[in-house]
Amino acid sequence: MIKKLSLRARLFASYLLLLSVALGVITAALLLILNTRPAPPQQTYQRLATIAQSVPFREILAEATADGVTTPAERQQIVLSEFDQVADELGVRILLTDAGRSTVLFDSSDTLQPGQAIDLRGDAYAMPANRRYPGRMELLFGSFSDSTGDWLFAGLALQPVRGAPATALLFADPPESQSLQQALAEFSSALVLPLCQSAIVGLIVASVLAVVGTRSIARPLQQLAKASTDIAEGDYDQRVPVSGPPEMESVANAFNYMAEQVQSTQRAQQDFLANVSHDLKTPLTSIQGYSQAIMDGAAQNPVQAAAIIYEEAARLNRMVLELTDLARLQAGRLSMQTSPIDIGRITASVGQRLSIMAQEKGVALDVDAAPVPEIAGDGDRLAQVIMNLVSNAIKYTPGGGRVRAATRVNDGGVEVVVQDNGIGIPPDELPRIFERFYQIDKVRGPERGTGLGLAIVREIVQAHGGRINVASAGTGKGATFTVWLPSPQISTLVRRRT
Ligand code: ADP
Repeated sequence: MIKKLSLRARLFASYLLLLSVALGVITAALLLILNTRPAPPQQTYQRLATIAQSVPFREILAEATADGVTTPAERQQIVLSEFDQVADELGVRILLTDAGRSTVLFDSSDTLQPGQAIDLRGDAYAMPANRRYPGRMELLFGSFSDSTGDWLFAGLALQPVRGAPATALLFADPPESQSLQQALAEFSSALVLPLCQSAIVGLIVASVLAVVGTRSIARPLQQLAKASTDIAEGDYDQRVPVSGPPEMESVANAFNYMAEQVQSTQRAQQDFLANVSHDLKTPLTSIQGYSQAIMDGAAQNPVQAAAIIYEEAARLNRMVLELTDLARLQAGRLSMQTSPIDIGRITASVGQRLSIMAQEKGVALDVDAAPVPEIAGDGDRLAQVIMNLVSNAIKYTPGGGRVRAATRVNDGGVEVVVQDNGIGIPPDELPRIFERFYQIDKVRGPERGTGLGLAIVREIVQAHGGRINVASAGTGKGATFTVWLPSPQISTLVRRRT
């Protein structure tokens, strides 16, 4: 079987492929462009400039001003025929224009007639210094078009001479038909080697960068794979460093978050198991002890012993029921009957049901069930929540104390506040009291609970999209539990108002 290529090898290969394709495309495009572009005019300019500077003006002028030539027309005739001759000899086209360089005065090819307009397009070409002829006239370069096609020219600006006006003398040739590539071919032998050398240097640099790049991508992935395996094998302390590009950082952050969650779930599970076994063992031990005493006839008061056995068995039963409830709630399997709920009415009825318990204990129970908008929820479950909070408050408030349950509208939802002035909760215990089996002081209460009540309460509240908070100023200072539940009615009202 062919071994699968590693990510690093694949990335490296794809970098190289990309580089080769880019180089190939650049080369092909360059060749194509070089082949179709016309040759640059510089060579033609230089050739024409050389011709312009080789014209024997002095001799022509001497001939035109020789004895016997009297009229300017005669002089001009001589000069122009000389130009015709030069044009023939050198195989170039010679034109003479006015000083403004817009009207033709003479054209050796007779294409443009004297007086005809010419449109010269100047070119800011500067002759290479070694080709320039110092101390000579100003050189002009450029192009023009006429009925015979495009022309390149090199010209001289002539100063007025003996009554003749200032003019410009142009030497013109059609542009080279040779392509840029042909023009470059002359240099090819000199160019190919450096081009190849720079391509090799480029390839080496790119390969080094590719190695660095692939490593920076592959290494975090390898670390991630190793950490995942370690966690799967039970080493929950594993975390990966958060570094590299943002995508890599967010993967590392997500992984670390997941590892944290797995670790805390694992810890919670271990705590839970330890708690369950401990909390089951205590009542079982006492059941076993008392029943043994009854059987042995060692119990001084068998009826009281039986009552204790009954009490412990009832507690075990309660615990099992609550555990099942909690497990179902946490698995999200418990069916919630959602209907419009009047939380004020539920609070009032819970208050009524618990008033006897409060009376027996000598605790004043004060219910202020102000009417609040309806919410969507499970009435029985929410009654369970309020029941639990109010009965806890009565349970943990000594006789003579006071418990108050009230409803109100707050933050786009409704709130139930259960407040007491009982034994209170130490600040460091506050964050933990919603944990399963958590009891602050197992012998604090007059009636031993299971430590599951508040865990169930929180699950129910969260299943309704709400939240529960607890506040206490400390031991002996009472406690306040606040349940907030979202109300669709209020949030639409708020939305409409804004
Ligand atoms: P339990 O069945 O023990 O009451 P809960 O989950 O209902 O379990 O409560 C957890 C712990 O929180 C209790 O053991 C108790 O110590 C503390 N607690 C709950 N409500 C109050 C309150 N109103 N005042 C003081 N302590 C409270």
